[in-house]
Amino acid sequence: MQIVVAGSGGVGKSSITIQWLQQRFLTDYDPTIEDKYRKKVFVDGSMEAIEVIDTAGQNNYLTNRERAFRSGDGFLLVFSLTSKESLKEVCDIYKNIVRLRDRDDLPMVLVCNKRDLIEERQVSDEELQKLTEELRLPLLECSAMEHEHARVAFSNIIRFIRNF
Ligand code: GDP
Ligand code: MG
Repeated sequence: MQIVVAGSGGVGKSSITIQWLQQRFLTDYDPTIEDKYRKKVFVDGSMEAIEVIDTAGQNNYLTNRERAFRSGDGFLLVFSLTSKESLKEVCDIYKNIVRLRDRDDLPMVLVCNKRDLIEERQVSDEELQKLTEELRLPLLECSAMEHEHARVAFSNIIRFIRNF
């Protein structure tokens, strides 16, 4: 099963992915790199072969990103609590996927990242609620510094894809 991690640049897509795969927190990572990883994991007692595509937000990588949007079995739609702009962009990405796939019921989970940066928070609970009502998707709060958060995010999307 292929999981695509999408969202604007700098929101923590690579950090969440690496935290899940390698149990470490990335302090810096090239925002322009699109990476693909393979991992076999047990979720709810059964094994799953996963391919993760960590997409890049940069414009010149849009073609790669679209390819991933067309092929993904499920999506982690990541934005950052420290950036209102990233919330708008995650809506655009959602619409883009719906348009490319011509359906709005694909497995997707919203991940609002950087919840540890409380002082820098720009997104209110009301805005989060509005977002989930508008897109009708589950929402997880996350800090890529916490392995458990990354694990929960990936377990959620894996279950979602299995039940799809
Ligand atoms: P990407 O462009 O979406 O892949 O973003 P990255 O994963 O490269 O992260 C961008 C920057 O934000 C890096 O310096 C990360 O260390 C930092 N970062 C990512 N997630 C978190 C988080 O949850 N908390 C904090 N404090 N920093 C984060
Ligand atoms: Mg990245």
